[in-house]
Amino acid sequence: MYLVGIDLGGTKIAASLAGDDGTLLGTLQCPTPPGSDFSPVLEASVQLVDRLFQQFGAPRGQLAGVGLSCPGPLDLKQGLILQVATAGWQDVPVRQLFSQALGVPTYLENDANAAAYAEAVAGAGRGCGSVVYFTVSTGVGGGIVLDGKVWDGAHGSAAELGHITVDPQGPPCPCGSRGCVQLYSSGTSIARRAREALAAGAHSCLERESQVDARAVERGVRAGDSLCQEIWRDAMVRLGTATGILNQVLDPDLFIFGGGVSNAWDLMEEPIRQGACAYSYAKNAHLIRLAKASLGPLVGTTGAILLARDLL
Ligand SMILES: [Zn+2]
Repeated sequence: MYLVGIDLGGTKIAASLAGDDGTLLGTLQCPTPPGSDFSPVLEASVQLVDRLFQQFGAPRGQLAGVGLSCPGPLDLKQGLILQVATAGWQDVPVRQLFSQALGVPTYLENDANAAAYAEAVAGAGRGCGSVVYFTVSTGVGGGIVLDGKVWDGAHGSAAELGHITVDPQGPPCPCGSRGCVQLYSSGTSIARRAREALAAGAHSCLERESQVDARAVERGVRAGDSLCQEIWRDAMVRLGTATGILNQVLDPDLFIFGGGVSNAWDLMEEPIRQGACAYSYAKNAHLIRLAKASLGPLVGTTGAILLARDLL
């Protein structure tokens, strides 16, 4: 029997085929059809699955289950995508649509939780029971795995890790709260804070950059630029503050950091640890374990497959 994991994104759809033990056989992807109508998206996904089976010479009738990793917010009980603003999708009954189209049970999970599960079970957290996963890219998101299970929360909205308040006096966040860690530590926020400092007259090597993004700030840090170092350090210490808060509550085996910004892990670990230790019970601070994510771009489909495996 076979399993399929589908990572449904606003810009691309990826699908991986695996054996029923979760061993990955191959992956295909295609651009997400644009527009708010979901039918072409479903059609493109089913075509990807059919092509996967053809390519690997697997009998299509032996598909046993599908895992679906979707951006949110989702209604996990009802199996709905509530809204994906970037793609224009609203109130889409994805679990039912995929189950009907593929003829097998479908496990739905939000993308950050699916990635957390993948890293916890098959990535940097392999062998750990409880893991907190941060994804740091354009935003900050994450997922929590406790005793080997994704913690969705009572209403399916747990692990909004980017919206942990690290400064109650900080700026307002679109979520309705203030001083959320995402406002300091996401790639978008790192770039925004650098541009604001330049506009306020700060001098930096960034003045020579045609585009001031998080990668440019990272290059500045490596070149010893003091403005870049200050912004980067603040972003990472605040991510550490959120880590320390979570450590106080959950005491997990491991904190894992993925997403594009985390490619600069050598510049992250020390300031994150500093922030985490400052906001943890002193007696436990030395027990905090931090690691870079290890699965790379297949983390979404891997998580979806591992969740689908649990359906069997
Ligand atoms: Zn927020």
